[in-house]
Amino acid sequence: MRQDDGEALVAKDARHVLHPWADLSALGTGTSLVVTEASGVEVVDAAGRKYLDAIGGMWCVTVGYGRQELVDAMSAQASRMPYFTPFADVSNEPAAELAATLAELSPGDLNRVHFTTCGSTAVDSAVRIAHLYFAAQGRPEKRHVLSRTDAYHGSTYLGASLSGKEADRTRFHYENEWVHHLESPGYDPDTSPVTAAERLAGLLEGMEAAIAALGADTIACFVAEPVLASGGVLVPPPGYHEATRELCRRHDILYISDEVVTGFGRLGHFFASEARFGIVPDLLVTAKGLTSGYQPLGAVLISDRIADALARTADPAKPVFSNGFTYSGHPVACATALANIEVMRREDVCGHVRDVGPYFVGRLRELRASPIVAAVRGDHLMACVECHVPGESGPTLRNQALAARVDRHCETSGLLVRPFENLCIMSPPLVVTKGEIDRIVDIMADALARAERDLR
Ligand code: PLP
Repeated sequence: MRQDDGEALVAKDARHVLHPWADLSALGTGTSLVVTEASGVEVVDAAGRKYLDAIGGMWCVTVGYGRQELVDAMSAQASRMPYFTPFADVSNEPAAELAATLAELSPGDLNRVHFTTCGSTAVDSAVRIAHLYFAAQGRPEKRHVLSRTDAYHGSTYLGASLSGKEADRTRFHYENEWVHHLESPGYDPDTSPVTAAERLAGLLEGMEAAIAALGADTIACFVAEPVLASGGVLVPPPGYHEATRELCRRHDILYISDEVVTGFGRLGHFFASEARFGIVPDLLVTAKGLTSGYQPLGAVLISDRIADALARTADPAKPVFSNGFTYSGHPVACATALANIEVMRREDVCGHVRDVGPYFVGRLRELRASPIVAAVRGDHLMACVECHVPGESGPTLRNQALAARVDRHCETSGLLVRPFENLCIMSPPLVVTKGEIDRIVDIMADALARAERDLR
């Protein structure tokens, strides 16, 4: 791309695009990094500068950029049949094939698939299914939803209400009457003043108290990311998942596992719920890595138990399942997901993540030697570096400014990380090599040293 073309593109973007999660006070005044090309783990901006993408697009580009197998699958499907509605009693070939493949990959009896367009619409749909399930049993009062502080579940009105990141609660309206947030469940053995067992006991006590206060008869579901992603890579203490699953079972509360980020290999397995944390949820939500981000697609995996109950209890007067989108199960997206899964299986991408994941987190932990690093948290290929001005803790304005400075230094050195509050979050493509991990850590170490010098 010629330089003046690149500048014109950046100007068009600044003038006309309202970016998701943009700083409104700076609308139209700033310039964005406009990416024009990508290959492997690298992207190239409109000015021709290369960056190692340690964000993986937005936690989603798992098999790397420029995979010809995925491009070929997209192109072949688009030529053959680019679209056909999946509504009611019609469907399309890739959607049927993908649903069967997902049933094979998923834990337990999660054998029924409801396709959506993205993670947010999948979370919304999962909660609607939970509501429908209880309403059909003549228990419509079972409608309250338990989520957690620091969770992120999407950007529809319901997804935003389920999300529990305080910084994201702005002047929009939020559903607070039937959505409730339990305590954020992260446990960091490096910084916590209590043991993991004490932390677990406290979290479970809190959840039991919330269930008792609302009444189990009024609660439809619990929605939980196995590891909280954009809330700050928060890993719950050992035993948390099994214990919360058991609590839900005991109180007849449906367990919805939000694997939009943790699904498709990021924690070393196609799904983390069972393989990493020993639980089989009632409903499992996935998106992002399902297509490696090459196409927008989400899915709710539903247990046979729930699906059969929905069928058995359908309203004879209005048996329709009134949920779904024009682009649910889009054939090009489903064909892409099938090609993506084939690549992941052939190259044992999950095995690769189990190999490089601990190396990634281990190398990042070396950065704790920097006086401006308060903590390093991670699990396989999701991690974050928490920054602080020495002596100051939490997401204070100064700590946030410091993380933004580290982020800028990374960017000028050719590394993309994602700033959130006082964190630099990383979720590189799953095919990242140990050599590329070394590059990420070296650039981050240099950026931290520069940001520390800036403080003086
Ligand atoms: N759930 C989780 C855990 C997420 O991280 C996200 C997005 O980052 C979503 C849901 C929403 O997905 P989408 O942005 O595809 O709507």
